[in-house]
This record gives sequence, C-alpha cells and structure tokens, in this order.
Amino acid sequence: GKTTPETRRAPFILITGVPGSGKTTLADALAARIDARRLDVGALCAAEGFHGAYVEAMDTHELREDALLDRMEEVLCEREAHGEACVVDYHSCELFPERWFDLVVALTLVEHTSELYERLEARGYGEKKIRENVECDIFQVVVEEAKDSYETVWVRSNATLDDMENTVEEIARWVESRT
Ligand code: ADP
Ligand code: MN
Repeated sequence: GKTTPETRRAPFILITGVPGSGKTTLADALAARIDARRLDVGALCAAEGFHGAYVEAMDTHELREDALLDRMEEVLCEREAHGEACVVDYHSCELFPERWFDLVVALTLVEHTSELYERLEARGYGEKKIRENVECDIFQVVVEEAKDSYETVWVRSNATLDDMENTVEEIARWVESRT
C-alpha cells in the first residue's frame, strides 16, 4: 500500500536538521505531547541493517536507500491503518516521497553555532565531522533541501529547551487545528 495525505486520519510530521540540532529530543517530546507514534529513521537504519559499507572519506555509512524506503512505507502504512499520528526524524529529507508528510519542521542553530559545536563534541564526533555539520547548518543545507522538497516547511531555531517547548506547542496547536 501507499500512505497519502488524503487517506490518513492523523498527521505524519517530519523533523529534520543536521545531527545535533535536537531532532530526536524534540520528536520524542512532540510525540508524547500529541499522542503520536515515533519513527527515528537513524535508529531504524542501525537496528535493521540499512547502513551499508563504511565510507572512510565521508566518515559515514552508505545507505541502502531503496530497502529503507520500502520498510518505512510499510511502517507508515500500518500507522495509517490504525489511524495513528507519527513523528519521524532524520538528518535528510529529500529521499522521502512528498506524500509521506503533512508538515516538515527543519531545526537550526544557525545563530548558535558554538552550542551546536559543543553538542557534537559531547557526542564524540571528530573535529572534521563537527566542522562539516556546523557548516552544513550555517549554509542552511537541510533547510533548503526541505523547502525544495516539501510544500509546508517550518524553520525553527532549537538552541534552548525553551525553543524546543515553544516549537512543540506550536506544532501541537497546528495538529489540534486540523481536527
Ligand atoms: P539529533 O537527533 O538532531 O542528532 P538530539 O536530539 O540527539 O539531536 O540532541 C543532541 C544533544 O543536544 C542531546 O544531548 C540533547 O540532550 C541536546 N538537546 C537537544 N535539543 C536541545 C535543546 N532544544 N536545547 C538544549 N539541548 C538540546
Ligand atoms: Mn537523532
């Protein structure tokens, strides 16, 4: 089957942004707030083997993209069948079909670069990988990718827990306004 905005009873929301932007933390808080299911794509990749070979030059793993997308469609269709809302998070978004999401929220720390730097350092990332991700956020690579790929994109700063709470409440109000 295929999930579409027309057939879903509850919304599917994608949280995107560079690693360390706070996607997983915000997505968990949002799912608790609006009583939605969660789909952490990075965790799914790790758990079900959608990461392929390690690519040393990029300090990252290849992605078995077709297999991942098939699996995600399966999971999302099941949630649609149960009338469940779903909050998905991933550091990229252009690989997903547009019909999967009713709202895309792109998180950024563009005016708080040192905070992003510290989060990635705390995660144990190497200097080069930290710099690449911080630059990616400064140049709004994921934000532009989201705007190019989806109609409804909100861009929100996520430097503090206050920022996160405000965004969660804003999304919750949007969800409530649809029903
Ligand atoms: P991502 O999933 O985008 O890689 P995480 O949600 O794992 O990011 O968050 C990365 C780190 O930043 C974690 O240590 C988390 O506790 C912290 N963090 C996340 N969101 C915020 C926020 N809004 N304010 C302060 N710290 C945050
Ligand atoms: Mn995450």
